[in-house]
Amino acid sequence: MSATTRTVLVTGAARGIGAGIAEVLAARGFTIVIADVNEDQARETAARLGPEHEGISLDVADSAAVDQAIDALAERAGGLYGVVNNAGINRDAMLHKMTDAQWDQVLAVDLSAVFYVSRAAARHLREARRGRIVNISSASWEGNIGQANYAAAKAGVLGLTFTLSKELARYGVTANAICPGFIETDMTSALPENIYAAQLEKIPLGYAGKPQDVGAAVAYFLSEDASYITGQVLEVGGGYQI
Ligand code: NAP
Repeated sequence: MSATTRTVLVTGAARGIGAGIAEVLAARGFTIVIADVNEDQARETAARLGPEHEGISLDVADSAAVDQAIDALAERAGGLYGVVNNAGINRDAMLHKMTDAQWDQVLAVDLSAVFYVSRAAARHLREARRGRIVNISSASWEGNIGQANYAAAKAGVLGLTFTLSKELARYGVTANAICPGFIETDMTSALPENIYAAQLEKIPLGYAGKPQDVGAAVAYFLSEDASYITGQVLEVGGGYQI
């Protein structure tokens, strides 16, 4: 890897929190590759950031496709600075009604994909002996009614992050996680009005966060200031978790 590469892959960044992360990182001088199932929107979002940024089609739950995309990216970018595992989905249902498909889909995108992307990236970052992995978990990791699948996946992301941090530290690679609380995106605006209002009431700061608030936390973990910080979990929730 070139010692100067600033290329960061952000998954699921065509819209929502990922797009906010991409916007903040681009403004701080990183070159962003948006990897999303929605290729058109990934390209549009990348184009809005500037010509040096790129949008690619990638289903992060497809292990072989992830390996191929990350190897190809490292080849054309002369290495990788880091990855942000942001892609995520919800398939909420009460436990007794949750189907196998709802469980499997969420575990595939919200947990297995974090493993696939981190593993593929780690091969390059280890070799370069530096790099950053940032995983987007959720305040729901502690458990949330109707989200057995999502909470299990997001708690798994934390265990995975701690392990990555221990395995990769000797190669100069850090791994940290962020737990957003309640952030304004399509995922949250789809909630029924009464549930949306109840969520707001739980936030000491009194308002929902913005995707860029999560972006600022990601930028911190990618910065030189965070070189000595690994295996940490940062809550970005307006005090939601107090
Ligand atoms: P979002 O608005 O639904 O956006 C998710 C993005 O990921 C979409 O562009 C989606 O593409 C893409 N995506 C879905 N499955 C994918 C796959 N298999 N491969 C690649 N891309 C995929 O979600 P968000 O609210 O921004 O959430 C982003 C992350 O933050 C998720 O991990 C979520 O769990 C976490 N989070 C969100 C909140 C919140 O308040 N919003 C709180 C805590 C944690 P399509 O448009 O085609 O679906």
